[in-house]
Amino acid sequence: MVLPSSISWIAFDAVGTLITPQPSVAEAYTRVGQRHGSQLDCETVRARFRSAFAASQTACFPPERRGQTSEGEEWSRWQWIVSEVLPDVQDPEGCFQELWDHFADPQHWAIYPEVTGVITELQRRGYRCAIASNFDARLHGLLKSLPVLADCGPCLVSSEVGYRKPAEGFYRTLLERCEAAPPELLMVGDDFSADVEAPRALGMSAIWLNRHTLADDAVLSLHDLLEFLPGGAR
Ligand SMILES: [Mg+2]
Repeated sequence: MVLPSSISWIAFDAVGTLITPQPSVAEAYTRVGQRHGSQLDCETVRARFRSAFAASQTACFPPERRGQTSEGEEWSRWQWIVSEVLPDVQDPEGCFQELWDHFADPQHWAIYPEVTGVITELQRRGYRCAIASNFDARLHGLLKSLPVLADCGPCLVSSEVGYRKPAEGFYRTLLERCEAAPPELLMVGDDFSADVEAPRALGMSAIWLNRHTLADDAVLSLHDLLEFLPGGAR
């Protein structure tokens, strides 16, 4: 992979790229659901979450709001997802609130093992690191507890930007906040459509992180960035 020498900014997606829920989303939903009377097992919850998450954009946003979002709309979307995944709880509102709080707690997230070393080294080489995530205001609290990520900035969160990746509006705001032109920015993330295709269409560079499968057009670990970005930033 050859990257342009013009790159001075590296923007990282958050979930699946820098941090991951621990326990898994399915395990957390199952445990909290069972406390609220759900009978569903973890495998069922995993499958239901996958389909509810995929359907949530269409189900929760009218066509004219597609690609856009806000803090209130994210709250409602997650409420809808929880109700789809755990339809058999006795207190849907209490169950949703508990899950919302669960994922706001830094204790329930892990940073991938290579992240701290890679970001520290990239910064030493002169690159500036940003975070660009489809998330809500809870992300700031999570990052604050992780020293190397707390030092990255700006941190763009879709609910605050008003657009969700892969919307062009999200990436235009990222460029503005970094005061960078497209050739100066490299986006890195685990969602091919949102993190790779979309920024490339706007003239940025992008690297697809696929932690599960060795693929020609992807990297397995953020460690590979150190090979692709050998020199110092301009
Ligand atoms: Mg991701």
